[in-house]
Amino acid sequence: MPPLQIRFRRFTSLNTTIRLRKGQIFVSLSDLLEGAPESVIRAIAHILLSKLYFPRKPVDAAHNLRFKRFASSAAVTRQTELIRTARGSKRYFGPEGRYFHLDEIFDSLNLRFFSGLLGRPELTWSEHLAKRSLGHYDAAHNTIVVSRVFDRPSSPRYALEYLLYHEMLHLKYPVRMRGLRRCVHSREFKAEEARFPQLAEALAFLKRL
Ligand SMILES: [Zn+2]
Repeated sequence: MPPLQIRFRRFTSLNTTIRLRKGQIFVSLSDLLEGAPESVIRAIAHILLSKLYFPRKPVDAAHNLRFKRFASSAAVTRQTELIRTARGSKRYFGPEGRYFHLDEIFDSLNLRFFSGLLGRPELTWSEHLAKRSLGHYDAAHNTIVVSRVFDRPSSPRYALEYLLYHEMLHLKYPVRMRGLRRCVHSREFKAEEARFPQLAEALAFLKRL
């Protein structure tokens, strides 16, 4: 068997490719398949290998069916669509606001709280003056989006710092599954959040907003 190089990549569909080059097999799978049941991964492996080695033979019907069922199941279809919308229609407005520069604030927080060890994601101001979502981390784009309502001279810097700090903790503590529940703000997350010096003032300001 030739050596295999298998990668999950950010495809917006369930696209999968296989190539044989210089004695190695290269497989690219959509990251949408990363959590697929083993039987589905197995079916995909069969389909790909038979396409590579027996391109003129029809693919084994049972494996074909297994994959088709998975691909058309409601959950997968919905997830594929969500990701396609998110990845397809994203617009960036950049980190430079009129009063605050998000990159600069990120870098200073990184030094103060994370020994400069967090990799900087894309940082951008939101398009609109969103008040329902003041900030969020978008894992599909590795982007922190901050609401433009903060970009005004009356915004205290600590409020913006707190908001960004919270999203940076989401980078540090990715969402985990606890049984069937998503654990977004874990105990470690909250303990570390409490280290922010003006936590109470910042929360009070956000509430007023
Ligand atoms: Zn959060």
